[in-house]
Amino acid sequence: MHAVVTPEADAALIVVDVQNDFCPGGALGVDEGDAVVPVLNQWIEAFRRAGRPVVYTQDWHPADHASFKEQGGIWPVHCVQGTDGAAFHPDLKVDGHVFRKAFASDKEGYSGFDGYLAEDPDAAGPPSDVDLASWLKQQGVRKVYVGGLTTDYCVRATVLDAIKNGFEAVFIAAASRPVNVEPGDEEKAIEDMKAAGARVV
Ligand SMILES: [Zn+2]
Repeated sequence: MHAVVTPEADAALIVVDVQNDFCPGGALGVDEGDAVVPVLNQWIEAFRRAGRPVVYTQDWHPADHASFKEQGGIWPVHCVQGTDGAAFHPDLKVDGHVFRKAFASDKEGYSGFDGYLAEDPDAAGPPSDVDLASWLKQQGVRKVYVGGLTTDYCVRATVLDAIKNGFEAVFIAAASRPVNVEPGDEEKAIEDMKAAGARVV
């Protein structure tokens, strides 16, 4: 059984991009992407039980996003606003606030800290102007636990930005999976996070 920590009184959980397109069968599906869901659900339950915030980031692209191959980017079309591919994995327990990123055509955003609060997660348009770092600070959060998809892109970027924004950061290895565009990308990402001061559980 995977061990979940007891969340500290100043902790929050950031669930990164657990969306259909990053899961097997999706437009940019990663190996075992869906394996993070039951693990994250345990963490989500633990944080909610402790009354601590859980936030979910969502890659939220327009159909002509700069990161897509057709526009000169490196990725296939994925996580287009309002599509099933952009929806959270159906088994993910969603009980918290949703922050959307990379919703403008010309702006890439791997980090959850590029995300803005979606006041109405059922609406497909751009989110509010409340950014993740400000929102977390408003809740008294000083420490973030981060897991999701993918270790070597959005999870790594979120952990590094958490530290830049003055938060303590903990990477949850069992709750994350890599893309590994190049072999070894996952290991490199974990080394980068540790070098920046993140803890790994
Ligand atoms: Zn994307």
